[in-house]
Amino acid sequence: MTGAPLIGVLALQGDVREHEHALAACGAATRRVRSAEELDGLDALVVPGGESTTMSNLALRWGLMEPLRALVHGGLPAYGSCAGMIMLADRIEGGRPDQETIGGLDVTVRRNAFGRQVDSFEADLDMPVLGDRPVHAVFIRAPWVESLGPGVAVLGTVAAGPAAGRIVAVRQGHLLATSFHPELTGDTRVHEYFVEMVREQA
Ligand code: GLN
Repeated sequence: MTGAPLIGVLALQGDVREHEHALAACGAATRRVRSAEELDGLDALVVPGGESTTMSNLALRWGLMEPLRALVHGGLPAYGSCAGMIMLADRIEGGRPDQETIGGLDVTVRRNAFGRQVDSFEADLDMPVLGDRPVHAVFIRAPWVESLGPGVAVLGTVAAGPAAGRIVAVRQGHLLATSFHPELTGDTRVHEYFVEMVREQA
């Protein structure tokens, strides 16, 4: 790939603009995706944080779920943060009965895993693929990865505190997911890592 990769940001709901800014800072071009036509010609897709039940409803209602599944299961690189991680997961604990996902990532995620008493918190992570400097992560009613299949690599775990050791960043080939919101902190290393994945795949 010589030019900037074109990365779609699923814009049904959630923190779309923050991902656009982070991706632009990493040299990618972006396009908001609200319809199946807007998926045409993308090099990759980002599924933002927000509310996964709402995203699921809207994707079904707007005819996006099947096209999204076809692309993501067919090898389109995708990155999901928080609700986006849930959308990319094959299995959910604590989901709504009617909640569907795009899937592709062979993991079980637990919704609102860190407990309702702490709606949001910040923690340092060990994330060796991003270098020695710890990642300062923001979690907002976040899921964690409860279990994972053999093809899934753990990229990040909570370093300390009551949730120490919990899996919060994973990669399976062309799919990347984080429980936290790197788009909110100004640390673009996760997005840089994803854009590099996209360039390698191209
Ligand atoms: N709890 C939300 C959900 O289940 C995710 C929260 C977030 O994306 N910040 O979708």
